[in-house]
Amino acid sequence: MQTTATPRTYRVKSFGCQMNVYDGDRMAELLAEQGITAAPEGEEADLVVLNTCHIREKAAEKVYSDIGRLVKNWDREDGSAPMIAVAGCVAQAEGEEIMARAPAVTMVVGPQAYHRLPEMVRAASAGERVTDTDMPAETKFDALPRRKRSGPTAFLTVQEGCDKFCTYCVVPYTRGAEVSRPYSALIDEAKLLVEAGAREITLLGQNVNAWTGENAKGQTVGLDGLARELAAIPELARIRYTTSHPNDMTQGLIDAHGENAKLMPFLHLPVQAGNDRVLKAMNRSHTVESYLKILDRVRAVRPDIALSGDFIVGFPGETDAEFEDTLKLVDAVGYAQCFSFKYSPRPGTPAATMGDQVSAAVMDERLQRLQSALNRDQLAFNAATVGKTCDVLVERKGKHAGQWLGKSPWLQSVHFTGEAQVGQIVRVEVTSAGPNSLGAVQIGMMAA
Ligand code: SAM
Ligand code: SF4
Repeated sequence: MQTTATPRTYRVKSFGCQMNVYDGDRMAELLAEQGITAAPEGEEADLVVLNTCHIREKAAEKVYSDIGRLVKNWDREDGSAPMIAVAGCVAQAEGEEIMARAPAVTMVVGPQAYHRLPEMVRAASAGERVTDTDMPAETKFDALPRRKRSGPTAFLTVQEGCDKFCTYCVVPYTRGAEVSRPYSALIDEAKLLVEAGAREITLLGQNVNAWTGENAKGQTVGLDGLARELAAIPELARIRYTTSHPNDMTQGLIDAHGENAKLMPFLHLPVQAGNDRVLKAMNRSHTVESYLKILDRVRAVRPDIALSGDFIVGFPGETDAEFEDTLKLVDAVGYAQCFSFKYSPRPGTPAATMGDQVSAAVMDERLQRLQSALNRDQLAFNAATVGKTCDVLVERKGKHAGQWLGKSPWLQSVHFTGEAQVGQIVRVEVTSAGPNSLGAVQIGMMAA
């Protein structure tokens, strides 16, 4: 098989976190600038970018099965082969291994180098296999095209990397040190997204609340200051941010939840475990008590805040009693929605070589128990909104005439009937609640 000389169509497939979704969109914009167009749904693309995630073993293995499937299912009369690029955190961590293990891959590009994708495509078109996993000093964001398209909701990466070094986590190695994008660049990008149709922007970062920058008056501000400036963009109706670290939850940001009406009442604040010994072994630098105190302070200014978090079960050495502490914490908080994972040893991280690894069977059982507690609370949170009215940002049409889909302020998916348009904010009355969504009827129109 021959690799396609110059790709005419592309497809970007992003795995993992929302930051990868953002990066995937930016890569698509870059390729489009080169005259390469998005492959129509259901058609093979000449160039496939697999934008990978390395956070857990399962996520990392997906890339190899995808490469295999692409090559096996490729069916072109001219005998050409797809051009495959592996991007994202697996590319960063295992670039050499991918090149050795998967000859069909012609490009490996790390998360800090993807602005160089066009040059790499040119080299690959000339028959080279190229790897770029540099973390260059120049910011990739300056080299990316201006934002021109957006749906009603958009992501905006404001901060990248992590200096926290939790003992289980690969992010500090694959994404590098914490870096905040400049204030003015973010305001400019947000304005472009809003001009292109965004009504809600979610600010993204591995530790988004560690973001800091200098505002137009030369003052150093945190995420609350950035959110305040964004709230001044008239057509922008909603602001969200994720993922936050408990240690960077400043009083200013907490207060913003009571003061900034565009900041949605939702907080994703991962705790990971409900036992202080485990938290210390994870190098989490917060305790159960300090975490709960933050939630109290947030609830004091925004009593209806929907709380969310991440949990890891089966961290090395976690005993039954320590796991029970996690269930107690869940009971005490009453989360609206959460992510929970089995601990996955990641090569190169301190926890991977700790003694006392927990067996797969014990992890399975703990995850099941944790998830049934979290599901119970999620359903209870949703059920508590039945009979109430709320605003919904309309994201798309439903399957049937007069049906629409959108999100409540608390990030619940809402299916409603009414007369709406994508991008509008409408008022609905919630009529039913399931574990993952609400049913509602439209009762009014909030804004055009
Ligand atoms: N910076 C965020 C924080 O500290 O809360 C989290 C970012 S991380 C990309 C997303 C989540 O993946 C973490 O909160 C954690 O629950 C999970 N995670 C990270 N490493 C993991 C591992 N080795 N095994 C299982 N889950 C892991
Ligand atoms: Fe990973 Fe911890 Fe950094 Fe979050 S804070 S990205 S879990 S090292």
